[in-house]
Amino acid sequence: MKFCIVGAGFSGAVIARHLAKQGHTVTLAEERSHIGGNCHTSRDPDTHVMLHHYGPHIFHTAHQHVWEYVQKFATFQPYINRVKAISGGRVYSLPINLFTINQFFGKTLRPEEAQEFLKEKSDASIKNPQNFEEQALSMIGPELYQAFFRGYTLKQWGVDPTSLPASILKRLPVRFNYDDNYFNHPYQGIPKEGYTALIENILDHPNIHLHLNTEFEALTAAETYDHVFYTGPIDRYFKYCHGRLGYRTLDFERFDADGDYQGTAVMNYCDEDVPYTRISEHKHFAPWEAAHLKKTTCFREYSRLATPEDAPYYPIRLTTEMSRLERYLNQAETTEGVSFLGRLGTYRYLDMDRTIAEALSACAVIDQKLAQSSPI
Ligand code: FAD
Ligand code: UDP
Repeated sequence: MKFCIVGAGFSGAVIARHLAKQGHTVTLAEERSHIGGNCHTSRDPDTHVMLHHYGPHIFHTAHQHVWEYVQKFATFQPYINRVKAISGGRVYSLPINLFTINQFFGKTLRPEEAQEFLKEKSDASIKNPQNFEEQALSMIGPELYQAFFRGYTLKQWGVDPTSLPASILKRLPVRFNYDDNYFNHPYQGIPKEGYTALIENILDHPNIHLHLNTEFEALTAAETYDHVFYTGPIDRYFKYCHGRLGYRTLDFERFDADGDYQGTAVMNYCDEDVPYTRISEHKHFAPWEAAHLKKTTCFREYSRLATPEDAPYYPIRLTTEMSRLERYLNQAETTEGVSFLGRLGTYRYLDMDRTIAEALSACAVIDQKLAQSSPI
């Protein structure tokens, strides 16, 4: 059969390989000049740092099958994300852990004492937090919320934390020990040669015909396919007929320096009067080679509302967007011959591991349907 896949990120690549291995012909359309989607990496010709062009990406998962899948296509180096944060002119450790609590309050609390201490600070009247701010106040109390979350979140999302869902904060742990691992997942690492090399290996199959710099719309005008797997923005597919789904975009302000600029990969800037949210220094995402590099490349990260010309990064998912999304999802369900996948096709924030897990599940469903000769 003849399939068209739109988008050469993880979602499109995983499905392309699966179909190609079953003997199908796969045409892969990617409008950018490179594969990898938002995980794209390449080595800078000047500083020789492996750059993560759409923001730093750390692979972390609890899914063993996803971890095993990516190992087939790349050598992973161990990497633990240990974020630092500047607030009120001092450097702290994130996520909030015993070190942060003791430093911030000038104490020497042990785990149980710290738990009791934060319990006294937290707002016990909030039984069922309805928004980001309530979640923070009930979890860590007003001082830590003001110092680390209020200003940063205002900059990141451009709205008051009271209008954001509690789920955004629930992504982060609060620990009463000195564990400063940003993620809880058992499998964590970064591919030694970067994500683009990994995805290149996934796509390395003679049945996959990759077309870079090619919009899907141009391909389907010239050719018909048995089925399309679309990982681009769902509202774009339907020509924005229900309005645009809102995104936050990021501006990355690059600067190079000699040696080591900040001594760590990520430094968050939590104060509202600093216009950027964080500085990432990309050579520290590759500690196995950082010491050999004489130069360094950093990016100040600024968040703002995306215009139609900007790259979409974080789906906003507030009430207006969610009702629009529902209309698009209903339309998608009744549109034959197309499946919508991935972070843009479903308008969700998805980590890489979840993207891959969902693409692998989609492959299992495709197999079932093809075996029964029913439409996909
Ligand atoms: P994408 O990677 O966006 O790929 C979609 C592709 O489709 C793009 O290449 C696009 O150009 C192409 N396309 C769209 N429309 C068309 C069209 N009409 N025609 C042709 N091509 C089209 N996840 C983690 O696990 N760890 C992290 O540390 C992490 N950090 C992140 C940091 C930031 C700032 C952001 C925004 C995300 C981060 N993620 C992270 C999430 C990660 O980027 C996603 O999980 C992943 O990119 C999803 O892959 P995808 O294939 O669904 O989408
Ligand atoms: N956050 C914050 N201060 C920080 C780090 C995170 O206020 O120093 C908030 C912010 O609203 C962010 C959310 O916590 O969107 C989730 O953090 P995460 O690190 O997962 O953000 P992302 O990786 O999406 O940028």
